[in-house]
Amino acid sequence: MAVDLTTELHKVLGPKTAKAMATSLGLHTVRDLLRHYPRRYAKRGEMARLDDLQVGDRVTVLAQVRRVTTRPMRQRRGTLTEVTVGDGAGSMQLVFFNARHSRLEEGAWGLFAGTVGEYRNSKQFAHPDFHLITGDDDEDWARALIPLYPASKEVSSWVIQRSVKLLLDAAGGFGFVQDPLPEEIRARHGLPSLPAALLDKHRPTSAEDVDRADERLKWDEALTLQLTLAARRRAAALEPGTARPRRAGGLLDAVDAALPFALTEGQRDVGEELAAELDRDTPMHRLLQGEVGSGKTVVALRAMAQVVDAGGQAALLAPTEVLAAQHARGIAALLGPLGRAGEIDGDPAGTRVVLLTGSQRAAVRREARAAVADGSAGIVIGTHALLQEGVDFADLGLVVVDEQHRFGVEQRDALRAKGNRPPHVLVMTATPIPRTVAMTVYGDLEISTLRQLPSGRGGVSSSVVPVKEKPAWLGRAWERLREEVAAGRQAYVVCPRIGELEGEKGAEDEPGDDDGAPADDGGDRRPPLAVLDVAEQLRSGPLAGLRLDVLHGKLTPDEKDARMRAFAAAETDVLVATTVVEVGVDVPNATVMVVMDADRFGVSQLHQLRGRVARGKHAGLCLLVSEVPSASATGQRLAAVASTSDGFELARLDLETRREGDVLGAAQSGRRSGIRLLSLLEDEELIARARAEATALLATERGLADHPGLAMEVAALATDERAQYLEKA
Ligand code: ADP
Ligand code: MG
Repeated sequence: MAVDLTTELHKVLGPKTAKAMATSLGLHTVRDLLRHYPRRYAKRGEMARLDDLQVGDRVTVLAQVRRVTTRPMRQRRGTLTEVTVGDGAGSMQLVFFNARHSRLEEGAWGLFAGTVGEYRNSKQFAHPDFHLITGDDDEDWARALIPLYPASKEVSSWVIQRSVKLLLDAAGGFGFVQDPLPEEIRARHGLPSLPAALLDKHRPTSAEDVDRADERLKWDEALTLQLTLAARRRAAALEPGTARPRRAGGLLDAVDAALPFALTEGQRDVGEELAAELDRDTPMHRLLQGEVGSGKTVVALRAMAQVVDAGGQAALLAPTEVLAAQHARGIAALLGPLGRAGEIDGDPAGTRVVLLTGSQRAAVRREARAAVADGSAGIVIGTHALLQEGVDFADLGLVVVDEQHRFGVEQRDALRAKGNRPPHVLVMTATPIPRTVAMTVYGDLEISTLRQLPSGRGGVSSSVVPVKEKPAWLGRAWERLREEVAAGRQAYVVCPRIGELEGEKGAEDEPGDDDGAPADDGGDRRPPLAVLDVAEQLRSGPLAGLRLDVLHGKLTPDEKDARMRAFAAAETDVLVATTVVEVGVDVPNATVMVVMDADRFGVSQLHQLRGRVARGKHAGLCLLVSEVPSASATGQRLAAVASTSDGFELARLDLETRREGDVLGAAQSGRRSGIRLLSLLEDEELIARARAEATALLATERGLADHPGLAMEVAALATDERAQYLEKA
């Protein structure tokens, strides 16, 4: 029978099986089936892990029947059959009601599939599906490794195994599978052919078979992904943009002259890079990553100034109103009269800085929009409100997205679309991105990194305060805070929740971060500490007499702004806040950050929060207060955050604690997705090599014309859900 990858499964398998595969597992074609890889492999004498199974897991286990007893039920008519199966040290009860399973005899081996339940403290399967391995079974079961597939109630693992076998028999081997990978790439990296890898993956005889197959199959995933991204980079490079060359004697020079500090070497280098790229007529697509406090804003501002000097407009998109307002204030202050062109005390040679946010009064917003539309506002700063219809630019030359991890690609693109021609794009993030993620999720952007913090920074020392184990430390923490305030410094106290006035639990009007702490100890914990409660307790207790204020997302934007200003002006000593202060907030005089219920926050969130202190010349202190035991996994995670301020290290830790699927933007379960085996954490080298090959393959005019197999894989990924996940990541 002629079979290829696009052949529908019902032509190869029975109609019932094919239908069940389609509806319950989403497998429609031969390709789908072959790319439905075993999750793991069972080996006789190795399945001793029944004890590790969790109640509620749906699993398939390979085990031997040890004991079968049938007795009448006490309360009801009928019989109860209990079968003990086991392997090595572990054992498990199977329970059948009114069933006669004459084939379940002592000594028989079989695969048992079902949902793990519990009865009188021991784990059991009630009415599992099973498949006994008997002498007249085909040689499949004699194999050293039995593949265990992701299965469903309708299609068990052994049905999938059987189907793969059927396909093999019908097609006379996997020879029909065309290998998309060019021979020379295979040779260069020592990879087996695709048919060989598929055979090893589905029907291995040893663990080495599986390893070799995995390496090859991961290559397919990595290369296809990198080709997609490289093609996107190439397409972007062909777009017609507008060059915005540097001009002397304009805003940029004024900014440089007004800066109260010397740029760091990194800021200068990245600045040169950006200046050169803005001068080209292909739009820049660049990611600027840099530690919290590394001074990305000024780098962006200088690029914006260059564009304004060249006659264009620059837009800065910020994730929160607090941050947008802070940027607008800071930039206006730095530009002085040059940022107030058209006003009485403004310099006519300058431009206007306008702020556009959703909470502005209609009249203010109308005026801002008009200035954006007629081009008199060279620098436009705003929140999501910038993306709305009705915000039209006269000549948008540069889009800057601050804290990119708070936005999706659609938002970047929505703003980009407001240019007459594609504008230059600079996205910034302080969430350090492990190299692999940078190469995949952000693979269509060029990357610049600010590694150095401005010198003269005091640095932050961090400690965990385990209140259950060391109750006295908390009192000491508040004393330290008072000492800092006495020395003229300021402090943040961050809590996970707002408190009584919120109707809906945990609601924040600022876009929430998606990397909350993993909930690893069930749902019956006390509710997280709340800003309003904690502020009250501090006011009447350990921080009595200090000037204390609260900040959270439920305040009106005007109130938020006023309180933030008061804190920035040192009219407040302590700001008790939610994570509204997480991103970007810049008050150099703040030196203490106390995070309450620190275990409720994710790794990168804690790192961001810590970045709010020691932004000036004074040393900072970050205290992570938590009730979890130090020895627990969560306790150790906190200890790790306290012990290093290396953002890249922490990003790795974060990647370990979050599931990788979350990093790629969606649950890993996406069945028809392009990425099944590739691990962003473990396959860094492989991804790097694939990226180099992808770039080389696309370097010539012919693109993938000589590699139709690869072109097809790329096309398949493009229609795949995963590609859309990547877009949103
Ligand atoms: P981030 O990269 O986290 O966005 P910011 O741009 O907010 O950091 O900068 C943090 C602080 O450092 C700001 O107060 C800024 O004015 C200051 N800063 C930036 N560059 C320098 C420098 N070269 N020397 C000293 N201070 C600097
Ligand atoms: Mg910033």
